[in-house]
Amino acid sequence: MLDIQKIRADFPILSQTVNGKPLVYFDNGATSQKPQVVIDAEVKYYQEINANIHRGVHTLSQLATDAYEVSRGKVKEHINAKFAHEVLFTSGTTHGINLVTNGFASILKPDDEVIVSSLEHHSNIVPWQMLCEKTGAVLKVIPINENGELIIEAFDALLSEKTKVVTVNHISNALGIINPIKYIIDKAHSFGAAVLIDGAQAVPHLKPDVQELDCDFYAFSGHKMCGPTGTGILYGKEEWLNKLPPYQGGGEMIKEVTFEKTTYADLPHKFEAGTPNIAGGIVLGTAIDYLNNIGFDNIQEYEHELLEYATKRLSEIEGLRIYGTGKNKASVISFNIDGIHPYDVGSIIDKLGIAVRTGHHCAQPIMNFFCIPGTIRASFSFYNTKEEIDQMVDSVKKAQIMLS
Ligand SMILES: *Cc1c(COP(=O)(O)O)cnc(C)c1O
Repeated sequence: MLDIQKIRADFPILSQTVNGKPLVYFDNGATSQKPQVVIDAEVKYYQEINANIHRGVHTLSQLATDAYEVSRGKVKEHINAKFAHEVLFTSGTTHGINLVTNGFASILKPDDEVIVSSLEHHSNIVPWQMLCEKTGAVLKVIPINENGELIIEAFDALLSEKTKVVTVNHISNALGIINPIKYIIDKAHSFGAAVLIDGAQAVPHLKPDVQELDCDFYAFSGHKMCGPTGTGILYGKEEWLNKLPPYQGGGEMIKEVTFEKTTYADLPHKFEAGTPNIAGGIVLGTAIDYLNNIGFDNIQEYEHELLEYATKRLSEIEGLRIYGTGKNKASVISFNIDGIHPYDVGSIIDKLGIAVRTGHHCAQPIMNFFCIPGTIRASFSFYNTKEEIDQMVDSVKKAQIMLS
C-alpha cells in the first residue's frame, strides 16, 4: 500500500493553487511533475560537479563523466539491456525515433515497407513518412477498432517479405490502450523486420524488459517519468546500432578526424555528438531511483484503482463518451460530452483548478477515426487521488450545465 499523502509531499508543485483553487494535475500524459529529490539533484550537479564530460583529465570533468556513466548504467539495469553501450542518451522520444529513421535512410530501398499503427503519436508517424519519401519505401498502417485497439489480424495481413521495419507504441498517449507488443515483435521478426517500440507513455507506469521483449529499439522520454525535460533514452540492440550510420556529426562521436577520412567512435559515443544535457542525463537516473523506490508493482496497482474509479464516476455523467474502451489500459481516460467542444470543457475546468489536456493529443489519425476534433484527456499518476477525481467529475458536471 502506498502512502499517497507522503508521496504528494515529495512534489512541491502539487501544493500550489491555480486560479485560486488547489491544483488537480491530470496532465501527466503530457509531462509528469518532479519530486524534490530530482529538483535537488539538478541543483547539486551545477553547484558541485558541473564540467564537460569525456574530455578533461581534471577532477570535475571526471566526476561529471562518472556520474553520467553511472546514470547510463542505471538505465541499462532498469530496462534490462544487455550492454550499457546499447543505451543512448537523447533529448527525448522524438530525438530517439529520428535517430533511427535517419539511420534507416541508408538501408531501405524503393518498395520496401514500413508498418506503423494508426494509434501513434505524430512523432512516431512523421519521421517514418519522411523516411519513406526519401527512400521510396511504402508506409502501411495498422487500423484500429471501435474500442481503440489495434486490429491484429490486419497487422498479420500487412506483414510480408517486403516489411523491413514495424513500429508501434507500447501504450497509446491519446487513449491509454496497452498494445500487444510482444506478439507484434515476435511476428515482425518472423518476417525479418526490425521493430521500434515507442515507450514514451509506458515508462511512467511500468518497467520494460527489452531483452524479454526482444525489440530492436525502444525509445522514451525522461520528462514523463519524473525526470527533467530535454532528456530521453534510445535503447538499440548492439547489432543494429553498429549497422546504422551516425545521426549527427560533431565532437565526441569520432575516433579520428582528417580531411581525407573520419572514423567514428565506438558505441554509445557514435550517436552522442556534441555536449549533451549532462545534468539531465544524471538526474534521469535519480528519477528512475525514485520510481523504483516507490515500486512499479505498487504504482500499477494504485493507478489501476484510479482508472477504474474515474471510469465509473465519469460514466455517471449523461452524454459522456469515453474513447478507448479496450480492456488493457493504462491510467488515461479520453472523453467528450455530447454537443460540447472539448476545448470549452477544458477551459472551464481549468478555472476550477483542474489541469487536463484537450485537443488531438498529437494523434490526429485517431481523432479522424472517431470523427471528432479532439478529446478531453485525464491522465493519472501515482500521486493523484480519488478525491481529485471527484473534483474533476464535479467540475465537468458544472461545465456541462454552463455549456448546454
Ligand atoms: C510524449 C510522446 C512522444 C513524444 O515525446 P517527446 O518527449 O515530446 O519527444 C512520443 N510518443 C508518445 C506515445 C508520447 O506520449
